[in-house]
Amino acid sequence: MKIAIIGIGSVGAAVATAVAGTGLAREMVLMDRDGMRSRAAAEDLGHAAAFSYDIKITAANNYRAIRGSDIVVIAAGANQRPGETRTDLLHKNVAVISDIIPRVMANVDSKKVKIIMVTNPLDVMVMLAQKLSKLPAARVIGTGTMLDSARLRTILARQISVSTRSVNAYVLGEHGDSSVIAWNAACIGGVALDEFCRQTKNTLAATTRQTIEYRVRNAAYEIIRGRGATWDGIGAAVADLVRCIANDERRILTVSMTDGTGRNAVAMSMPRVVGEMGVMASLRPKLSVAEAAALRRSAATIRKNYDAI
Ligand code: NAD
Repeated sequence: MKIAIIGIGSVGAAVATAVAGTGLAREMVLMDRDGMRSRAAAEDLGHAAAFSYDIKITAANNYRAIRGSDIVVIAAGANQRPGETRTDLLHKNVAVISDIIPRVMANVDSKKVKIIMVTNPLDVMVMLAQKLSKLPAARVIGTGTMLDSARLRTILARQISVSTRSVNAYVLGEHGDSSVIAWNAACIGGVALDEFCRQTKNTLAATTRQTIEYRVRNAAYEIIRGRGATWDGIGAAVADLVRCIANDERRILTVSMTDGTGRNAVAMSMPRVVGEMGVMASLRPKLSVAEAAALRRSAATIRKNYDAI
């Protein structure tokens, strides 16, 4: 499998490391408008890969080098400064994605390529990339709330003292401040969360849930305050998505994809079955009335931001 990564900043480099670590890619091409940066990253990663997998890693300054790519990951563009929201990046990153997508499409096989969007504000960038690429929506996939769902599962698992792997819980909607935690659909080992708490004498009071929601929604802000940016979590999320596509695993991931058409089109995260052709099916979990209303508001926020570009 050949993978191209466009944008080799903190996130692109972490994505390259994590994807190389899956051992699934035979070839990886790194592109950045700062050629020195992508060349240095390709050198460094190439040396690291010598300890693990046979993979050819090259830097390129011409989009012709991405020809034959099965997956193109786009992680180029401005990131959040401390205190900035993802939406604050909108206009800067519209210009970046509008520059990149036509160049990508001129060099890939539109019948098979999958585009993975990482650039924020994620859901609007998914809509823009899908429109510009004219690819089927199922093959322009955003990492969406994969990372938010992983954060939720981790925090909730610690709270109720079970393994993260036994927690089935999702964050839906925008990868941003209006995201929605689907408490009503959360399951622990096949048992609804409320019933699990009753049976195990765990109390998950409303205030505890609010604290969990706050920590999930603010995790990126906290990391950016302490580290300047976030990269390891998203690197692992992209590698997991690549693995799911490459192996046609058909796991359910909360990825973002454009649903609907015309004025009703909106990209946001829902639990979706992911396989070799991208998104193969989308699911609608049973939400409470309040959660469903919050999800509609989240969709409206994304659409409003898209209409503003
Ligand atoms: P960064 O500033 O470290 O790197 C961005 C890179 O993009 C730079 O190397 C820059 O030269 C390159 N670039 C800019 N315009 C380009 C163009 N037209 N063509 C090619 N390369 C170009 O930023 P980062 O921390 O790596 O973040 C990148 C993006 O990922 C940001 O939008 C950030 O908000 C987003 N992000 C998303 C998630 C998520 O969960 N989806 C998580 C973390 C970061």
